[in-house]
Amino acid sequence: MDDFKVTPWDVEGVVDYNKLIEQFGTSPLTDELIEKTAELTKSELPIFFRRRFFFSHRDYDKVLADYENGKGFFLYTGRGPSGPMHIGHIIPFFATKWLQEKFGVNLYIQITDDEKFLFKEKLSFEDTKRWAYENILDIIAVGFDPDKTFIFQNSEFTKIYEMAIPIAKKINFSMARAVFGFTDQSKIGMIFYPAIQAAPTFFEKKRCLIPAAIDQDPYWRLQRDFAESLGYYKTAAIHSKFVPGLTSMGGKMSASKPETAVYLTDDPEEAGKKIWKFALTGGRATAKEQREKGGQPEKCVVFKWFEIFFEPDDEKLMERYRACKSGELLCGQCKRELIERVQKFLKEHQKKRKEAEKKVEKFKYTGEL
Ligand code: SF4
Repeated sequence: MDDFKVTPWDVEGVVDYNKLIEQFGTSPLTDELIEKTAELTKSELPIFFRRRFFFSHRDYDKVLADYENGKGFFLYTGRGPSGPMHIGHIIPFFATKWLQEKFGVNLYIQITDDEKFLFKEKLSFEDTKRWAYENILDIIAVGFDPDKTFIFQNSEFTKIYEMAIPIAKKINFSMARAVFGFTDQSKIGMIFYPAIQAAPTFFEKKRCLIPAAIDQDPYWRLQRDFAESLGYYKTAAIHSKFVPGLTSMGGKMSASKPETAVYLTDDPEEAGKKIWKFALTGGRATAKEQREKGGQPEKCVVFKWFEIFFEPDDEKLMERYRACKSGELLCGQCKRELIERVQKFLKEHQKKRKEAEKKVEKFKYTGEL
């Protein structure tokens, strides 16, 4: 019995990502595929790929082959607007931006306000629509190409219903129940929802690539069961690991536990205090002991955040690892350095977020390219 659990709604325990590949039946993102990505894009790979934050895939090899032989592909990702976005939510969007830029492909971003309303008992429809707008600002602030990026909110983009109907005819209740665990108490809107979520994978007659955290994989497993019978490709995906919350190396940053997350709209001063107070380190009980024995970066959230996003320079990351292990670097200093990076990022992001208010219309997808 594994001591972790990953579903689209919940992550428990310390995830063993190799075991998860077996459990989910995905494939590891190999050195060969990573090197092929660098070769085709003629670019230096970003840290998300170099450090295997993206670690697993379905049919990414076919996506690269389609690109190479001129068929092309498109990108699709999304966001469920049930509250403010945090750092863990936004990092996969930066990886998506890199893919869009380097491959020069269209990107569709689905804002699933209907889903969040249906699945979250206490969330009103008005609230989820308000969060949709707020989250769209954060997404635009990442810097996507407005000519190739199409953002749509399910409740407004009603054409999606028409596209979901043929899909809904392909999924029977037992298929959906097997993937999502629906029960007699599940609302009928929830049961229909997977058809809506799958529709964007058919927006173009090319292969669709979804960059997303691995917990979202079940949605696409279902799509892969029926896509070809409707004349489309099985969707491809690349899966990221989770960004750990501040307080634990296991699981992921959770919006329902505010002390674990740094939100994109947090006041930088407050965010700094939160990291200082809550971030788990791999430090020893006393400074003396740490100087003697060294720290444990493999157990440290501060180090993980540097590794995932806040230290792009590989040599500097290795130097931090070494200095920690040797006891030269103490956790107070290390945390202060992380806080500076996070605050700088938040200030820049919030400036771009403000500018995004004027760009929302430009990114809106109407169904026409
Ligand atoms: Fe973590 Fe830094 Fe402390 Fe090492 S010195 S355990 S990397 S916070």
